[in-house]
Amino acid sequence: MYVDSHIHLADEAYKGRVDRIVEEARRAGVKIIVANSEDLETSLRTLELAEAYPPTVLPALGVHPWCACEAEDSEVGEVSNLILKHGGRLAAVGEVGLDLAYARGKQEAWDRQKKVFSLMLETAERVGLPVIAHSRRSAGEVLEVALTYRVKMVFHWFSGEIQVLRRILDEGFYITVGPSIHYSKHIQRVAAEAPLTSILTETDGPVRYRGPFESLETTPTLIPMVVEKLAEVKGLKPDEVALQILKNCEKVFPAVQSLE
Ligand SMILES: [Zn+2]
Repeated sequence: MYVDSHIHLADEAYKGRVDRIVEEARRAGVKIIVANSEDLETSLRTLELAEAYPPTVLPALGVHPWCACEAEDSEVGEVSNLILKHGGRLAAVGEVGLDLAYARGKQEAWDRQKKVFSLMLETAERVGLPVIAHSRRSAGEVLEVALTYRVKMVFHWFSGEIQVLRRILDEGFYITVGPSIHYSKHIQRVAAEAPLTSILTETDGPVRYRGPFESLETTPTLIPMVVEKLAEVKGLKPDEVALQILKNCEKVFPAVQSLE
């Protein structure tokens, strides 16, 4: 029983092939796929996908920091309204967050990301949903902003400093680990440092990976390989790791609990 807690199933790259992708994922033992959004269009499409593939696909709606600058206030407001409207049917608010590298030193872009992220956190707090956060080169900043709200956080693909990781774990928050655990020494260190009870697995598809994934399309069928490597890092059996991650997923996402 596997979990892909972060994939962009509404992405153009998967268009017309989601049927096959979900079917293959189910056959590979993937029980939960959390489909993340980036803007209004992908939020609407993600809701349709969740409708089409129950109970495997669960939606997460939000405005991604890369889309925060292009999106008008009205679009951000519409995504926020969708989150409030669908509330309990959603797994989380995501993908939202901050990306200092993407802002490229432009104060205006950084301020806009912060404004949109704050609105997403406020919405998550109102509706009682966990938040799946992007925090590339911004993990400390994401944590600082998040702590001003009463929300449960998942730091997707956490790649920040170990010191920041410890603060995240102290708050009882979660991180996700994906295919890069196979070749990134830093991600291996992060996975070794975090207790297994704080880790979720993800693919972040359609992002492509190096190493053993070089020629492979990124779909939830890669999750068993992520679990295998994580088990090696932890010195545990893959089955034990998969089971604990499913338990973590049930704990983080109220929508998964209500499936039981
Ligand atoms: Zn993502």
